[in-house]
Amino acid sequence: MTRISDLLASGRTFSFEFSPPKSAAASLSLGRTIAELEPLAPSFVSITYGAGGSTREHTRDTVLWVQRETNIPPMAHLTCVGHTRPEISDIISTYVNAGVHNVLALAGDPPKDPADVRPTDYTYASDLISHIRELSDMCIGVAAHPEGHPRSPDLATDRKFLAHKLSLADFATTQFFFDIDHYLSLVNDLADLGVTKPVVPGVMPVTNIAQVERMAELSGAAFPQWLREKLESGSTPEDVRRIGVEAATQLCARLLDAGAPGLHFYTMNKSTATREIYLQLGLPVA
Ligand code: FAD
Repeated sequence: MTRISDLLASGRTFSFEFSPPKSAAASLSLGRTIAELEPLAPSFVSITYGAGGSTREHTRDTVLWVQRETNIPPMAHLTCVGHTRPEISDIISTYVNAGVHNVLALAGDPPKDPADVRPTDYTYASDLISHIRELSDMCIGVAAHPEGHPRSPDLATDRKFLAHKLSLADFATTQFFFDIDHYLSLVNDLADLGVTKPVVPGVMPVTNIAQVERMAELSGAAFPQWLREKLESGSTPEDVRRIGVEAATQLCARLLDAGAPGLHFYTMNKSTATREIYLQLGLPVA
């Protein structure tokens, strides 16, 4: 039984995040990406969940496939807004019965279209954590937003709720960020609030400016001018990708020097950028 909290207690974790495939072709492509990343011996991989349950079966099937077909422990993302308690009980019992021991407990974003609003027994991720604790002894991770969550009135309020949530959970993984100071402030602020559980930084190698602009806007992460200028100095898409990988590698090296408990890579279901960062950092590859 591999619990991420045990892995973190015994050393650094290196993990990859994937979205569940929604077609046969995407399944084959993700299978190939995971096979390409397996030699890096990731500590775990995580599989995202569509808010409101929109990828419920795809996420479950992908998590169970990783558990069954690879040597890598999976972590299942699970959002609670739009779910009832019986639905969550059902999802958790499927995972427990299959030997999946790790879950990332999330609120998820409320639907924009009122027609998509579903009955729910939950408001915040902390409600989901309490329910999972009643149901199982799974290791529970939570999301942290170094620059503050977009729905928070201010950073101090967000830190206070995050500290409470993390006190109930085992570890946190962060939203991506590009300036290390955001991560260091987050860890310091949590320590000031009495919470010293591991906070694993999430790293997004930028390989496409438009895509990151869109994701940064949604997540509340700043896309700093210095990085934009660097990327825009590349004259071909391949230059942009190389510059993005270099910037992510430098950020990873600084995070490890600063004592980060691990690195969690947002892979966008591709292996190349993550493999290049691994090689450049000198991390072991089988
Ligand atoms: P919460 O911790 O509940 O926080 C939401 C907001 O409520 C924050 O502003 C917080 O400060 C505030 N708050 C918390 N508790 C209280 C309280 N008691 N009273 C008042 N305010 C409170 N989304 C997906 O749909 N699927 C995914 O797979 C997914 N994976 C993610 C992985 C990571 C690592 C991260 C960082 C985010 C991920 N998200 C995912 C996005 C996430 O669902 C959204 O950011 C969502 O809006 C908030 O989720 P949360 O779990 O952080 O919520």
